[in-house]
Amino acid sequence: MKARRGLPRNRLIPEKRIYFRPELTHCPDCGTKLKRHHTASHKIVATLKGILDVWNMAYHCPNEACGKLERYFRSAQADALCLKHTSYAYDVLVLVGEMRFKQHMTVTEISEALTQRAIPTSERHAMRLYEWYLTLLRASLTDDVKEDLKKIVKEHGGLLLSMDGVQPEKGNETLYVVREGFGRF
Ligand SMILES: [Zn+2]
Repeated sequence: MKARRGLPRNRLIPEKRIYFRPELTHCPDCGTKLKRHHTASHKIVATLKGILDVWNMAYHCPNEACGKLERYFRSAQADALCLKHTSYAYDVLVLVGEMRFKQHMTVTEISEALTQRAIPTSERHAMRLYEWYLTLLRASLTDDVKEDLKKIVKEHGGLLLSMDGVQPEKGNETLYVVREGFGRF
């Protein structure tokens, strides 16, 4: 690995702070306006469009008579940015997958290409991004996930699904990611 000078190569410095609120503005059961409750998540996310400081605010129905004070709504758009526990957006993962699969680039070349696109990435990180991409491709409805979904239906009376297509560059293949909004997938 090359000698590092100055900042670590994978240090992400945000250019923009964004507060996301849920797409739903009113309670789907009683129609009361949802109220801000707490910060559901806060992280720095590297996307192909820049490095973002992302705050996802959880809202809930404040009507006690409705009886769902502990059901929280988050922004599906914020959750759609990246995998939980990672700081790189899906568009970056998909680009890494294409560079590796289609253009047969080495990890060193991928790391350099990302750094040139203002996404500072070490070789080790480029390798992890590729592994996450493979994990995404393999993601499917396993028995564990089915059990979790059943619990969510029981607890919240249904599922809140969102679907998002990720395409790093126009004309390339699109990866579709489906996620559930009440649970923690
Ligand atoms: Zn309500």
